[in-house]
Amino acid sequence: MSEEQLRSYVVVDLGVIKNNYMSYRAALPPSQEIIAVVKADAYGHGAVKVAKALESVGCKLFAAADIDEAISLREAGVAGEILVLGYTSPRFAHTLIENDLTQTIVSEEHAKQFIKLNEKVKCQIAVDTGMNRVGIDGSAPAFCEKVIRASAQNLRLTGLYTHFCSADDDKKRNFTLLQAQRFDQVLKRVNDLNLKYVHCANSAASLSKANIGNAVRLGAALYGLKTGDVALLNGVKAPLEWKSVITKVKKVKAGQTVGYGRAFTANNDITVATVSTGYADGYSRLLSNKGEVVVRGERAKIIGLICMDAFMADVSAAKDVKTGDEVALIGDGVSADDLAGLIGTIGYEVVCRIGKRVKRYYKE
Ligand SMILES: *Cc1c(COP(=O)(O)O)cnc(C)c1O
Repeated sequence: MSEEQLRSYVVVDLGVIKNNYMSYRAALPPSQEIIAVVKADAYGHGAVKVAKALESVGCKLFAAADIDEAISLREAGVAGEILVLGYTSPRFAHTLIENDLTQTIVSEEHAKQFIKLNEKVKCQIAVDTGMNRVGIDGSAPAFCEKVIRASAQNLRLTGLYTHFCSADDDKKRNFTLLQAQRFDQVLKRVNDLNLKYVHCANSAASLSKANIGNAVRLGAALYGLKTGDVALLNGVKAPLEWKSVITKVKKVKAGQTVGYGRAFTANNDITVATVSTGYADGYSRLLSNKGEVVVRGERAKIIGLICMDAFMADVSAAKDVKTGDEVALIGDGVSADDLAGLIGTIGYEVVCRIGKRVKRYYKE
């Protein structure tokens, strides 16, 4: 089906993602590799397409959230190293090995379970330096050393990493530096192991003093999403546009209401367009009476409650609006970060939630 006929669709410009990657590549020291974080279907952009585009510009390292995501990448022909960030049950040790995946060891117990199996699983150890999510306890360096050495002896340990919890917040910079320091203390104890991958920085920390090691893990930056207080590099852009279609245009008189629950009442006579995207497509219902879309170059406010498969917008400012006109939900000056700001979340969530029903198209 051609794009124009679809109710709701996304266009991802892979050229923009490659350019974002190259911008960070140029800004980072040559000694640091980029691990492209393509979890959650590359933040809704399409993991296989994104990973392959990045491979074409030299990216060799990828990170996925779980073993299923990692296998999909491998089966689609992604050749680089794939790090599974989340927990995998040791009963899938064979699957990890067969697919040449690198598993994160998320706790000392996790390490023990893999060691007991006597399988040479490729793995990296996560060190918890203050986030209290996963990892071995980085505030006890001697203990960390023990787990790391046992893993190095019994498994195929290729790396060590930690994760910052507030690198995007200027006011919490000292804590990020403390996390880096804790990580460094663990590193120093295992220097002799010459681990291939040592990393701590996410997008927000990648160009900061807290970035130590020989790799960084970039997610948001590749997708042109803002991370808190940290500005994106110059030239980095959002590659994703979310488009929909106007299915009906009508005049609504002052005093009439629009949509479910009569949640919007027209103050004047207005022109209302029905747009064929709804919360079942991942367009948050919290954007009811709040969101803005772009029609024929003009902003149009969403009026009333967002339905499952449609919403209505006040298109009075735009000229000659017709059935079949394209609507930009994200793009044409409206960013995922803008929408996120309206409903108290982050751009990451907005793009991750774009539904399966919304077909993705790609430009190079
Ligand atoms: C998601 C994630 C990242 C990427 O974070 P961004 O803020 O998108 O750059 C890096 N490391 C880990 C462990 C993650 O879970």
